[in-house]
Amino acid sequence: MNRVLMLCGVLACASAFAQPPDTILFNGRIVTLDAASSVHQALAIRDGRIVALGTNAQIKKLVGSESRGRDSIVDLKGRTVIPGLIDSHMHAIRAALSFATEVNWIGTKSIAEALARLRDAAKTRKPGDWLIVAGGWTPEQFAEKRAPIQDELADAAPDNPVYIQLFYRWAMLNPKGFEQLGIKEDKDVPPAGRLERDTGGHLTGGISGNTQTITALFARLPKPSFEEQVEGTKKFFKELNRLGLTGVIDPGGFGMSPPDYRALFKIWREGTLSLRVAYTIFAQGRGKELEDYKALTQLLPMGFGDERLRFNGIGENVAWGVYNNDNPPEAAREQFTEICRWAASQRMSLNIHWHNDSSVGFVLDTFERVNGEHPMKDLRWTLVHLEDASEATLKRMKSLGVGWALQDAGYFEGEQQLKEKGAEAMKRIPRMNSALTIGVHVGAGTDAHRVMSYNPWVALRWMLDGKTVGGTALRGPEETPTREKALRMYTQGSAWFAFAEKERGSLEVGKLADLAVLSKDYFKVPVEEIGEIEAVITVVGGRVLYDKR
Ligand SMILES: [Zn+2]
Repeated sequence: MNRVLMLCGVLACASAFAQPPDTILFNGRIVTLDAASSVHQALAIRDGRIVALGTNAQIKKLVGSESRGRDSIVDLKGRTVIPGLIDSHMHAIRAALSFATEVNWIGTKSIAEALARLRDAAKTRKPGDWLIVAGGWTPEQFAEKRAPIQDELADAAPDNPVYIQLFYRWAMLNPKGFEQLGIKEDKDVPPAGRLERDTGGHLTGGISGNTQTITALFARLPKPSFEEQVEGTKKFFKELNRLGLTGVIDPGGFGMSPPDYRALFKIWREGTLSLRVAYTIFAQGRGKELEDYKALTQLLPMGFGDERLRFNGIGENVAWGVYNNDNPPEAAREQFTEICRWAASQRMSLNIHWHNDSSVGFVLDTFERVNGEHPMKDLRWTLVHLEDASEATLKRMKSLGVGWALQDAGYFEGEQQLKEKGAEAMKRIPRMNSALTIGVHVGAGTDAHRVMSYNPWVALRWMLDGKTVGGTALRGPEETPTREKALRMYTQGSAWFAFAEKERGSLEVGKLADLAVLSKDYFKVPVEEIGEIEAVITVVGGRVLYDKR
């Protein structure tokens, strides 16, 4: 930003806000991500919003007698500050419910380290309490390049039933776990699942199956109590603050029904929600999806809520018949069209989970049809995932005003994708730069958890180096964004999906003061160190909600 504009910022503050700021941050490298990509030394906040940006001297001059104390006058000591990160697609509400009662393996680098977390958890729980690792890991992350075996689980927690889940296709239990769930043979396993056996025909403790199998199996585990859900939600959102996240777009998820939102609502009412959440309704009863949406939204109009918690429409599962189904039958297509028509007529946003470009034509055809009846340009409908989106698809999305919520699935699944699509195609997956050039709104994120880790820095590193968790580099330079572009996708890019890009996603006068002070300079460290970055301080709405100084 040039000096004149910068001074205007300070002056605007002095006239519009006669009172001094309640908080200032100075002596830093404040990356605003405004249109001019300006960087400032200091920033002032009042009543949750940014009131001025400028040099140390300019901002310090604004300090009044109210701005006192460690949280009020923050010496950044040269650290980099960025707008708070926003994940455009995270099953955060669901993940939070069990965060206080589950064990996670995110970031562990060996089986020994993963087992040590089970061992530690066993020490804090009573004998007989379940130890559950519900996804968020892959054998590729371990030095051993394999999943643990049952003896290792039994050894790590001899007195507790143990359940570990790998994506939505495999789970392993220790013998106590099998005993608790009453599983002895294949018929005791949910549909499409089977017990794994070694070459000698002995049970290994593994259960393989599809999404339905693993979801049904998981549903047999004890649910956390309401108090545990509240505790888990607070803990998980703080954990996200620790990584510099200040917002998520939440798509519900398997098993999420209205009562599962009680913990979130309680924390919101108490005023202790440390993360801004925009949430949607996931399809409920199969065959009565539209009926459910109509009933559930009678007192829940699109956009209802406040700056912390806002209702954001329907999805990611819009209708069961087109969920994870590349070739839905005619009846399902009609039902989906009817739901889309209703959502558009209600000016409701909609996001849909879709995996393959080869079959996405049906979704776009439907959107185009509905668009002819109820223009959807301002509704911010969203395609979620779709890593292999082609240019033609991106252009159709652009003309409909449909956004793209993109995750780092390739970080965990890149090796598998490589086998399916080949090295040449993988160089251009996902087409991040093309999408931005075409003008599609792209929001970055993770799709955590159960499948993916929620760490935004791991996702950012993957956006920049295209390397899988196993270290295979797949993406070419054509579709690799600059660090600034990647960060824009993780901030204002994602804010767009919550209709909030005018309120947050960049650090500008008048916007909400959501920001993160980083442990390392994202713009300067070697790319391989980006995954290790975390926040030193996270501010949401002007309040320091995470501080490890
Ligand atoms: Zn998802």
